[in-house]
Order: sequence, then structure tokens, then C-alpha cells
Amino acid sequence: MAVHAHPDDESSKGAATTARYVAEGVEVLVVTCTGGERGDILNPSYVVPEGHEFDSLEGRSAVRREEMARSAAALGVRHRWLGFVDSGLPEGDPLPPLPEGCFALVPLEEAAEPLVRLVREFRPHVMTTYDPSGGYPHPDHIRCHEVSAAAFAAAGDATRYSTAGEPWEPMKLYYNHGFSMESLRAVHEGMEGAGLESPFGDWIESRTAREIPEREVTTYVEVSDYFPQRDEALRAHASQIDPEGFFFAVPRDIEADVWPWDSYELAESNIPLPQRAHDEYEDGLFVGVREALDAGDEDRRTAEVNA
Ligand SMILES: [Zn+2]
Repeated sequence: MAVHAHPDDESSKGAATTARYVAEGVEVLVVTCTGGERGDILNPSYVVPEGHEFDSLEGRSAVRREEMARSAAALGVRHRWLGFVDSGLPEGDPLPPLPEGCFALVPLEEAAEPLVRLVREFRPHVMTTYDPSGGYPHPDHIRCHEVSAAAFAAAGDATRYSTAGEPWEPMKLYYNHGFSMESLRAVHEGMEGAGLESPFGDWIESRTAREIPEREVTTYVEVSDYFPQRDEALRAHASQIDPEGFFFAVPRDIEADVWPWDSYELAESNIPLPQRAHDEYEDGLFVGVREALDAGDEDRRTAEVNA
């Protein structure tokens, strides 16, 4: 279960990982917290399709639902909405107040309920979300982290949300780290090494200047075979993703060569995991899951024999 704040986040964060696991037979559910109704058009070449408008929240929501459906089809994932309203990215000094009724203003206990319900219905072994900073300072991204962490903790507890379905305890919770400095530098150097102009220089410089502490990466998932699905999912969000922008600036053969991974931070685990030295990494999100399932079956068989 990959939990995201807005439609398009599933295509820019961990998309190739979801496509890879679908191809390997895993059932993957993308959950989108908000409708993305306060997103502006971010693609200069975008033309609002016939019969649609982008001026009202309802109009944007309708456009973005169609884009999201195309993205989910490109990745091969199932998809559900939590139904919250986009908080928008507040800009200015001082920052304006958040709009009434938006996702980030819904009390956490209440905001986590539909996700707890969905966890208990879909019964994922592994969940992904953002780190506590949101990975990007949008109030919905921070809230997405908070509801995911709350649902991960509460879904298996029969005393919490007792009207939201049968308890289910997911095994592992990960944070997406697709835009780590490590990955930006690798791609930047790869492009310069090939004599190409890299669009990442300013980004790297500004992040270095702000001295944002880097999060730990525990897990690298090899996904270069799934770049085409990821790219199709990105293009599906035509109002948001500029086909001339940085997402498409890196030739894919260079990307596959210098950075073929999606990277993640293991945040929580309810199962025993193999010991790792500090310079060893997991190569997938399901490390330890099969063993834990087999051990669970073993426990059940023993219990049956003893009964
Ligand atoms: Zn977003």
C-alpha cells in the first residue's frame, strides 16, 4: 500500500517500485489522500481537455481524477481516494491561513480513520509514505505522513477505531526517498560526464546551502526495467508534469546506468529482520516478509497439532 498526498505523487515517488511489484505478482494499492483540487497547471504546454475546466475546485478535481485513472493503469496498480480536500501550498510572508475544511486542518484522529479502514480492508504487508518532514514542505505531505504513521500503528489494535473493520497489523512501514541528495548528485554527475547540461545544479546548491539533514536510506530497489511505466504514469498527469521539465531531462540509459534505484527508509517493522551491517542495505521492501509469513504458518500448524 503506497500512501500519497495528491494525484501525481504516486508517479513521482516510488512509481517504478510499484510497477515492479505489480509485475512480480504483488497486489499494489495506491491510496491518494486528497483530490489535488488546489494544484495549479504546472505544464506550460497543457491544454484543458474539451468539456473540462480548471477554474473551480470541482473542475480541477474532475480533470485530476481522469489523470489519476490513467496513471494507475500505466503502473498496473489498484487505486483508492481517501476523499480529503487539497490544502494548497500556502505562499507569502506571513503565510496565509489554510482554507477551511482542507485535509491538513482535519483533526488527526479523524483524518486517519478512513486509512485505518482501508488498511483493514486491503490488509497490506508493507506500507510506504513520506518522512515526518513530508519530504517537501506541503501541509498535505506532512499530513500524509501523520495519517500513515497513525494508521500503521492503530490498524492492528482492536481497541482503536473499533467500528472501522477487523484489526490488521501491517509488517513494515517505509518512507520514500526518491529525491535524496545522493541520487540527485549521481544523476547530475552522470549527465555532466556525458557532456549534457544537467538541470539539477541549482537544486543541489540550494539544498546544500540550506543544510537540510539527509534522511537515512536503508533500502534500494532496482527499478530501471520499470522506468517506461513510471514515465507513462508521469505523463498521465498532463496538467502537472511538464514533458520538457526536469523529470524527463535525464536520458534513461544514463539514469539506468548511474541511478537504477528507488530508495527508501525503513521506519517501522513488526517482524524480525536479518541483521545488516551499517553499510549493507535491503534490496526490496519485502525483505523478511516471506519468512515472517512462513513462521506464522508454522505457528498455526503447531497450534493445530497441539489442539
Ligand atoms: Zn503532492
